[in-house]
Amino acid sequence: MKSSHADQLLVLELASLDAAISRADHARRNPEQTARVQALLTQRQTQSAELTTLLGARDDARVELARLESDVSLVDARAARDNERLAATSNVKEAQGLERELAALAGRKSDLEDTQLEIMERLENADAAVAAQEAAIAETNAEGARLSAEGKDAVAAATATWEGATRDRAAVASRVPADLLALYERLAARGVGAGLLRRRTCEGCHMVLAGTDLNALRQATEDDVVMCPECGCILVRTDESGL
Ligand SMILES: [Zn+2]
Repeated sequence: MKSSHADQLLVLELASLDAAISRADHARRNPEQTARVQALLTQRQTQSAELTTLLGARDDARVELARLESDVSLVDARAARDNERLAATSNVKEAQGLERELAALAGRKSDLEDTQLEIMERLENADAAVAAQEAAIAETNAEGARLSAEGKDAVAAATATWEGATRDRAAVASRVPADLLALYERLAARGVGAGLLRRRTCEGCHMVLAGTDLNALRQATEDDVVMCPECGCILVRTDESGL
């Protein structure tokens, strides 16, 4: 096939635009943030489950503390009633019985108050653990939101690049002669359609061409459409080719 050097350069431009279109298409379909966003969603699930456990432990401590407070009130009420009865009685035996009970109640109250202190400390720790977990979840959410927004921007940018390159490609393709364009399209459908020969290397496949192949290329005229012996793409020769 024969084609002017200018037309062959257009085909090279097509190859470059096709590569850009393919890169932009990949970028808009696979924003790099996606994997991290997915990992954050999984992390948040784990964190939420942990928070549920921590909230349960805090509720347990609250319930236990309320029960202790009510026990202390009962002991106090009982002691108040005993004290009243003690003040009112003139029966020595009854007075002794009440005093014994009051002593037992005082002991019981002291035990309850010790336990109360322990539970209050546990509750304090549980509150801190819940607050820390909520802060960690907020951080995960914030990072997820930031990355999602970044991913959206990246997709929008890649889409704009894709649209621009697709428009440019159509404009370039309309200037390429039909037979050369058909050949290029056929080759591009299965790989690289055209490559520049630069310093004896095909930029379609990055192979350095052998001496015999280079000799064959030297025999070709400027308007001969030649193919890379390695990858089969249209090989475009310029002053940089090293022939
Ligand atoms: Zn090649």
